[in-house]
Parts: sequence; structure tokens; C-alpha cells
Amino acid sequence: MREVNNFIAGCFQPSQSGRTFDKRSPINNQVIATIAEADRSDVDQAVAAARAALKGEWGQLSADQRVAMLYEVADEITRRFDDFVEAEMADTGQPEHVMKHVFIPRGAANFKIFADVIKNVASESFRMATPDGLGALNYSLRVPKGVIGVISPWNAPFMLMTWKVGPALACGNTVVVKPSEETPLTAALLGEVMNKVGVPAGVYNVVNGFGPDSAGAFVTEHPEVDAITFTGETRTGTAIMKAAAEGTRDVSFEMGGKNAGIIFADCDFDKAVDGIFRSAFLNTGQVCLGTERLYVERPIFDKFVSALKAKAEAVKYGSPLDHATNFGPLISREHQQKVLSYYKKAEQEGATVVTGGGIPDMPPELAEGNWVQPTIWTGLADDAAVCTEEIFGPCCHIRPFDSESEVVALANNTNYGLATTIWTTNLSRAHRLAEQVEVGITWINSWFLRDLRTPFGGSKQSGIGREGGVHSLEFYTETRNVCIKL
Ligand code: NAD
Repeated sequence: MREVNNFIAGCFQPSQSGRTFDKRSPINNQVIATIAEADRSDVDQAVAAARAALKGEWGQLSADQRVAMLYEVADEITRRFDDFVEAEMADTGQPEHVMKHVFIPRGAANFKIFADVIKNVASESFRMATPDGLGALNYSLRVPKGVIGVISPWNAPFMLMTWKVGPALACGNTVVVKPSEETPLTAALLGEVMNKVGVPAGVYNVVNGFGPDSAGAFVTEHPEVDAITFTGETRTGTAIMKAAAEGTRDVSFEMGGKNAGIIFADCDFDKAVDGIFRSAFLNTGQVCLGTERLYVERPIFDKFVSALKAKAEAVKYGSPLDHATNFGPLISREHQQKVLSYYKKAEQEGATVVTGGGIPDMPPELAEGNWVQPTIWTGLADDAAVCTEEIFGPCCHIRPFDSESEVVALANNTNYGLATTIWTTNLSRAHRLAEQVEVGITWINSWFLRDLRTPFGGSKQSGIGREGGVHSLEFYTETRNVCIKL
């Protein structure tokens, strides 16, 4: 059994109250780790360590020195690749190949990409005229914002947490991370990496626990936390925004979605089916960018539904260690119950269940896991709960459409605005639609593909701000103007 402690000022330590909570495996619900639950005094200590580190050795490093250190962090993650893969698999129950090819490499890349951004960042300057004819020179300074509170979710824990920690450190800040209570293992491993490569104590801190009345709230309410970056559900974002209002602290939010997939009859059919299959079912549908609403042009509607059904029925459930497995469990029993409640609701709302709708038969050693079947519905009204609310499970509703204007209106008929995936071989149409869909990212003939230098974030209730490449500087630094009279 693992014991996971908080990581404060470079040391792993139990919580001062001695409180712990259990981490269960998604594949069988057995307890796999005991986690120290940080109380307010632990969070105070972590924030104080982060504040002190800003003024200490870390704060004295040049950008080049920070860049070199972040490269070492990335290299050490790569050296300990198998440990990260194993920890993330244990936490999430997701197949090994997803960890090996997507989530853990992206974690390492998140340090390198932002190190590169910092290396190349320029400062603006303006020469202005003055009445005496001599002029003045204005230039900008970018300074770290300070102590950043990082609140992260469980669905791609290491990738999403480092997506915040990488730019925060590259810009010279320090962090107090509150990983999801469901997935604490890789955040702790990263503490070992930080110590190994000599990142000064207090630069990276981890406090474990839950949201309200626990470590999450203690971090976001803390007056010495200068800004908060959060990935998670929209309603949690609302609670965090209220906490951040005290002290008018800045926030960056990446939140929920109810993303549309739009498939035109002129698409490359097989590629579209493969792409949509991934977008609906990768990570057991627990991807914020995943597709839960599908709109298929009427001439290929029946053919598309049959092809997606065939792929959904061919998934291989199982242990993440079995190389044949391509479909894991949901993260927790609670989330399984939530997803199953939507499966029931869809039937009550009159859906035609094309496939799935329940729990698969599993062998005895996995029977207690959080399994659900990939599920496809048709025939629901546009305002049905499963067509409007984020389920965050392996399921989608498919509806036919007849015209471009109709499908744009359908896609935009939501309070969310995270992502859209559009499949067509008509490039003019692709450009037209990309301008009209109200989302942070539009994929054309692809999904989940993105250069990390590009802006990432959500429109409407899917987010506030953009992170990625130089866009992250807007949140992780403060710009100051210096005006010199010549
Ligand atoms: P969640 O909002 O329940 O939890 C996220 C984190 O917030 C956890 O660490 C949790 O402990 C913490 N938290 C909860 N309540 C809090 C509070 N009152 N104060 C401070 N912290 C609090 O989300 P989740 O279930 O972990 O993740 C799934 C959600 O995340 C989905 O809605 C998904 O769409 C979204 N998500 C969005 C993106 C994106 O980039 N837009 C990426 C991944 C996940």
C-alpha cells in the first residue's frame, strides 16, 4: 500500500492533523493508497514556502537558468517515464498505451515548451515625443505574478497539472498545487523529480485533499495566493471565482464542455468514423474536448450510426496492463453512478439506444470496477438532458441535419463553448463554419491535435482566458511599463 504525503518546502510530510483518505483503484475499487489530507495549517505552510521561495534562490535565477532547470525536469520525467506511467495507470485505470503515447509525454513536453517560450520572449518598447523635443522611451517589463494556486482535475491528471505548472515556473512564479483527490500519485512523483534536479525548496508544493471545506478551498481562499489557475467543472469554477473575488485575484479557467461533432456527407467516411470514435470514447469519454453531440448530414446518417455502433461494440475492456485493452473504467464509483443515471435518463426521455446503456460483463477480479458500456443514442429532442448537460462519459447522441445553417445553430445552442470537430472535404465550407462555431478550438478533419504554442481555452461557460505558448504569459506574468525621459 502506498502512502502519499503532502510536498511542502521540498519535503514530503503528513498533514498536521494526521488526517488521511483512501485512494481506490478504478478497475476493482480496492484501496491502493492512503493520502495525507492537508488542513488549513498545511496549506498555510505550503503558501508560506512558496512565498519565501519567490524571494530566495529561485527569485534570483535568470530566465536562462530557469529554462535550463525546466529542461532538466522534463529530462528527469523522461528518465522516470515508467514510474509515471505506472502511477497514472494506477490512479486512472486507463490503458497503458494512452499513458505511454499521450498523457505522460505531454507532461514532460509541458516543461520544455514553456522553457522555449520564455527563451524567446521579447519586450515591447515605444519612443514617444515630448514638448522639449527630447522624447521618452517606454518599455515593458514582465515580472512573475507570484504564488500561483493550481487546482487540477482527474481525467488526465499529469498532463493537465503540468500544463499549468510548466508555464508558471517558466515565468518565475512558485506554485501550490491541489491535485484531484481521485488522482494524487503523479503530483507526488513530480515532487521527487523537483528535488532530484535541484529545483529550490518551496517552488513546487503539493497539498492533497478535496474541494469545499478542504485543501481546494483553503488554497483558493488563501490571501497570499496571488492568482488561481483551475481546470475542472464549470460549477466548481463559479465557486472558485467567488473565492478569488476576495482580494480581486486573477483567474484562468479551463472548464466543462458539451462539444459538437459535425459530419458532412462529403467527408472521408472511414477517417470521420475513426476520428469521432476517438473523440467520443477515448479515456472512456472522460475528456473535456470529447464529443457528446453528433450531427450527421442526412444522406450518410444511417451508415454513420451503424459504423460507429460497430466500433463501439468492438472495444476491449480490461486491466490497463493487458496490452489488448483499449477501454478502461470510469474514475470512481460516484462518477459511474452519475453516468449510469444519464443512461437511464436517456431512455426515460425516449431515446433509441443504438448500443450500450449499461454495465458490461466483467471477469470476477474486475467485476467491482467502475465499468460502463460505450453508449450511442438517437431520436432525442434537442433540449433533452443528455443533449444539453455535460455527462463526461463514453456516450453520444447522434442527430441528422440538412443544411449548414441548421447545424451551426444546433452546435451553438449550448451554454458551453470548448471545442468542435468538423468533418468535410469542402475546404471553403470548413473555413466558413470555423468562423461561426462559438468555441475555443475547432478541429477540421481531426480531433485532439494541437501545437502547444497555440491559444487554448473555452468560450462562454467553458473557460476564462487562454493558455498555451506566449498566451500563457498573459496570466502567469504581470506586465509593467517603464518610462524614461530622455
Ligand atoms: P471538479 O471541478 O469536480 O474538480 C476539479 C478540481 O477542483 C479538483 O481538484 C477538486 O478537488 C477541486 N475543487 C472542487 N471543488 C472546489 C472548490 N469549491 N474550491 C476549490 N477547489 C475545488 O472537476 P473534475 O470532476 O475533477 O474534472 C472533470 C471536469 O473538468 C469536467 O467538467 C471537464 O470538462 C473539466 N475539464 C476541462 C478541461 C479543459 O481544458 N477545459 C480539461 C479537463 C477537464
